[in-house]
Amino acid sequence: MPLIIVTGFPTSGKSTRARQLHDYLAERIAATAADASKYRLHLISDDSLSISRDVYDLSPSAVPAHTRSANASEKDARAALYGAVKRVLSDRDFVILDGLNYIKGWRYQLHCEAKAVCTPNCTLQIGCSVDRARKVNEERLRKQQQQQQPDAGKPQEEEAAMAEGQTLEAYEPANWDNLVFRYEEPNPMTRWDSPLFTLVWDDDAAQTRKTFDDLWDALAGAGRPVVRPNQ
Ligand code: ADP
Repeated sequence: MPLIIVTGFPTSGKSTRARQLHDYLAERIAATAADASKYRLHLISDDSLSISRDVYDLSPSAVPAHTRSANASEKDARAALYGAVKRVLSDRDFVILDGLNYIKGWRYQLHCEAKAVCTPNCTLQIGCSVDRARKVNEERLRKQQQQQQPDAGKPQEEEAAMAEGQTLEAYEPANWDNLVFRYEEPNPMTRWDSPLFTLVWDDDAAQTRKTFDDLWDALAGAGRPVVRPNQ
């Protein structure tokens, strides 16, 4: 069953959409599969593997002198994500990979992994303007700084987010800018990024459901492609 690669700018709303997709798929599997218990659903993310946002930071001050290369921590994080996907990906597993997934070579590698187990993959791009995504990060930074004040209690919003399994970890501004700069847009003309589905910030519940329906039809419904490893 499909590997769904979520991608977008940092703090653009990827985890929010990934959780919505998770809920949608759980409902769809229960409603339509003849033997729903045959299928499993996984949501893999930096948060689920406790990967800090700092691993993406390439600014010289953030990279300790002894590290083997400037992006060693990011490579280790990718290896952990890759291992987590590889462990569960199969014809019976729906896997949502929620993350930046901003390097096209990385998305290609994931596509090859899906192909190797004869299961389709798709890309879900979260469209959000740079300004809006930056504001979300700035707001998180502000809250994080407030938290670091002595005797600051946990704000209600953070308590609620943690209860839902979300973290409110912010990116350092230079790290955030750099990730936006490095972002490699998915291209629907390439086989590893297609089919490509897009959700934008203002998409309401009806539009979101329509996009998820299209995704389901293309990958799990009647339109499901037959994938062979040597194609
Ligand atoms: P990311 O996973 O890209 O870092 P999140 O999903 O954690 O981003 O979202 C960042 C913040 O933006 C959260 O507070 C979330 O509630 C809010 N948010 C995300 N998507 C939307 C949306 N479509 N409309 C309104 N608020 C959103």
